[in-house]
Amino acid sequence: MPQLARRVGRAKPSAIMVVAEKAKRLKAEGRDIISFSIGVPNFLPGPHVYDAVREALNKDSGQYGSNRGADALLDAFMKHMEAIGLTGYTRANIATGIGAKHVIYNLAEVLLDEGDTIAFPTPYWTSYLDIAEIVDAKIDLLPCPPEQDYKLTPAQLDAALAKKPKVFLFNNPSNPTGMVYTKDEIAALADVVAKHPDTWIITDDIYNRMVFDGIGYHNFVQFRPELRDRTIFLDSLSKTYGMPGWRVGFMAGPEAVAAAVVTMNSNHITNIPELTTAAAIAALTGPQDVPTQKNAEFQAKRDQVMATFAAIPGIVCPKPQGAFYVFPDVSAYFGKTHGPTGLAIANDVDLCNALLDAKGVACVPGSAFGEPRALRISYTCPTPQLAPGLARIQEFFAELH
Ligand code: PMP
Repeated sequence: MPQLARRVGRAKPSAIMVVAEKAKRLKAEGRDIISFSIGVPNFLPGPHVYDAVREALNKDSGQYGSNRGADALLDAFMKHMEAIGLTGYTRANIATGIGAKHVIYNLAEVLLDEGDTIAFPTPYWTSYLDIAEIVDAKIDLLPCPPEQDYKLTPAQLDAALAKKPKVFLFNNPSNPTGMVYTKDEIAALADVVAKHPDTWIITDDIYNRMVFDGIGYHNFVQFRPELRDRTIFLDSLSKTYGMPGWRVGFMAGPEAVAAAVVTMNSNHITNIPELTTAAAIAALTGPQDVPTQKNAEFQAKRDQVMATFAAIPGIVCPKPQGAFYVFPDVSAYFGKTHGPTGLAIANDVDLCNALLDAKGVACVPGSAFGEPRALRISYTCPTPQLAPGLARIQEFFAELH
């Protein structure tokens, strides 16, 4: 058989999906499983979204569309950006894609030649690594351990940008840590970015509407408007509107970058479908009560998860203020054994496997995100499952000796 291309070997299947699949299999075998593994919202878009799709169907929508995205969708997205404080963009600054993941892939092709460097903080969202590998970029990981609340410091960023990477990829609020940078922290990082003109900046801010404790969402361009010439903002409908499978993502940035992404679209996908476009416009322009209510619910769930980990000795858990993840450092338990099953815990993968086998609770090992001391809890499960799931976690740690 002829060989597959080398890039296939460089990209790994998502570690998050591996855990989710195992949990699904155990459930199918009749086990009582509570899944904290996959980052999908537990709510659906409102009826206005479905009505818009029905209306589009009645109009027999289904033609080829714009490579950039329909004008009405671009306009709806600009309004949405204005609502979070990002003003002054035009249609020419925007491009759509099949989810933010696809937009990131397009940007990797648009901004990175083979061997160019992309720098991003660790812990990172898993696909950053794989997308960078697929386009054969060099990767500079900037370690942000729990001791610094998983946040990048201005000094670290300064040192990283001094090496002139082609792209700096920043994620706020963060998947997997849920950390959100404060206004002052973003302003300080923006000052550093402004000193280094040779690097493109991508801000993956798809959780921008999911921030708690009144901390607010901020972007570099709000403090340093000159950074608009090389900053690309990313957003998505997946999390905010409970629409992960509809696959709609956006970028807003310099016209030349948006135009290049549109060229990629014209070759990869042609356009996002008209039915999806109708749904997306309805979500962006319709009532915003679902994301607002969900935010309150997620903040309460965050508090519940934090209280559980605070009560487990030896676990260090920086307090997340956004998204729907908690990322506790559980490394104090490595080297222990789970009493009732005799399972040995050498690392995060063993721990997640033992927790799933012994208690039927699925979490993702931190090594999937470049931080093997931690594990990721995604707390979007149905509310009645949260307390029993957390109780099982607490029991599990008490049984490690
Ligand atoms: N960026 C981050 C940080 C994410 O967590 C995700 C989804 N898990 C994405 C991008 C991709 O989102 P989409 O569903 O729009 O492709």
